[in-house]
Amino acid sequence: MKLFTAKKKEIYTVQPKGITKNKTELFNSIRNSNNNKLSIEKARIRCRLDKLLDMYKTKSLLQLSLYQTFYEKEIVPWNTDSKICNYCYKKKSYICRLCGEPICKRCTKEIPLKDFDPKLFYSLILCKGLCFNETLVYQKL
Ligand SMILES: [Zn+2]
Ligand SMILES: [Zn+2]
Repeated sequence: MKLFTAKKKEIYTVQPKGITKNKTELFNSIRNSNNNKLSIEKARIRCRLDKLLDMYKTKSLLQLSLYQTFYEKEIVPWNTDSKICNYCYKKKSYICRLCGEPICKRCTKEIPLKDFDPKLFYSLILCKGLCFNETLVYQKL
């Protein structure tokens, strides 16, 4: 038995009792920074949504019919390098207008802009993730 424990110690190098580290602070700092990242991301989405809505409202129909994607890209840079969906890796069909990432048909959500302003008859193409969820939250405010 003695031999066994000695061997076990050797293999696993059991940490001697008395040296314990409290990881709560480390854990909290990681969690807080993740929370901060999330709130920064949410704030960015709202800011971009405001800018997009503003753009749709101020541009004329002719301007939008000719240059809509150009104006959208001015507000949100598009990731055109990737040809696959950011969520499920299927072939991309659209680009999310709020994060600029490629998405497939199944991972796409559309929100009619008339819900924000009755004069707007476009739909906003969004990814099913944070962009869609935050837009729904924003809509209810
Ligand atoms: Zn997908
Ligand atoms: Zn998105």
